[in-house]
Amino acid sequence: MIPIAKPLLGKEEIDAVTEVLNSGMIAQGPKVEEFELAFSEYTGCEYAAAVNSGTAALHIALLAHGIGKEDEVITSPFSFIATANSILYTGAKPVFADIESDTYNIDPERIQEKITPKTRAILPVHLYGHPADMKAIMEIAEDNKLIVIEDACQSHGAECLGKKVGSFGTGAFSFYPTKNMTTSEGGMLTTNDKEIAEKAKMIRAHGSKVRYLHEMLGFNLRMTDIAAAIGLIQLGKLDGFTATRQKNAETLSAGLKGISGIVPPIAKADCTHVFHQYTVRAEKRDQLAAFLKEKEIGTGIHYPISIHKQPVYKELGYRDSLPVSEKATEEVLSLPVHPALSRTDLQEIVEATKEFYAKD
Ligand SMILES: *Cc1c(COP(=O)(O)O)cnc(C)c1O
Repeated sequence: MIPIAKPLLGKEEIDAVTEVLNSGMIAQGPKVEEFELAFSEYTGCEYAAAVNSGTAALHIALLAHGIGKEDEVITSPFSFIATANSILYTGAKPVFADIESDTYNIDPERIQEKITPKTRAILPVHLYGHPADMKAIMEIAEDNKLIVIEDACQSHGAECLGKKVGSFGTGAFSFYPTKNMTTSEGGMLTTNDKEIAEKAKMIRAHGSKVRYLHEMLGFNLRMTDIAAAIGLIQLGKLDGFTATRQKNAETLSAGLKGISGIVPPIAKADCTHVFHQYTVRAEKRDQLAAFLKEKEIGTGIHYPISIHKQPVYKELGYRDSLPVSEKATEEVLSLPVHPALSRTDLQEIVEATKEFYAKD
């Protein structure tokens, strides 16, 4: 079976973990600090705060900006549920703006329409590794005095206008095993604002800077040194992983060119796409997925249900009509693009897809 995702972990990661275990310092400690410094430098941000998941990074980012009850946050309905849930956790209301049909990212024009006096922030997602339209989004934010929190959980190292994602507003990254780099579970908040960084570090540790002095309500959302040790090695490999993902994407697009049932992914000018997913729009999507499965090729649907249509959101009273997002849920299919694929794997994916569309 060719899997849809596979973390690439080697001897360096194993040695780094062993070193931490032998040190006896296995919770948050010096490795976390070292990882934060390396990650902030990588993204071109002044500060970074490591946490135990991407969800935690989003949640803390919103809290650190003081977002809560009575506030509205405009976000994408076409994402992993954590994006919108992080807003709900704070007591604020997620407001969904429909997406662009070519990048699947939030559409700036639709954001404009959703702004009300209660709007406090915009939370774009850089979906599949393709940056959202940050030029337009930052302009809207500036004109309306809104905070920008970037869900960069799928886009480590992606650039927009020559700047890394996560450095436009407050960034949130995930290091879950399927992401472009991993720490097992883990996440990171990035910012250029000293006060936000300090608040984030307090919120992740029960609202304290000084032990047993709790200045605000916080949680236990810390990263361990074990995870940070893996992260430091993976960060060093990230640009290599990304180059392989981009090359694999190029091979897939060249192979799939001319198949009329497939719309391959695009990369807009001024953007680098880091291909967390290689997602096509496919005619007879579900039949194609079943056919590929029979050929031992794993695929994924990211995402089969728009967030506003999830039972948990319907229960909250969401009744939006977001046609571009809803159509995408019926047509998208992610093909394997991860750096553990061989040339033969890529050929097999292309050949099987061609065979499916040649059948009738
Ligand atoms: C993975 C992901 C998250 C959540 O990250 P976790 O580390 O799994 O909590 C949030 N948003 C998006 C877009 C993601 O892909």
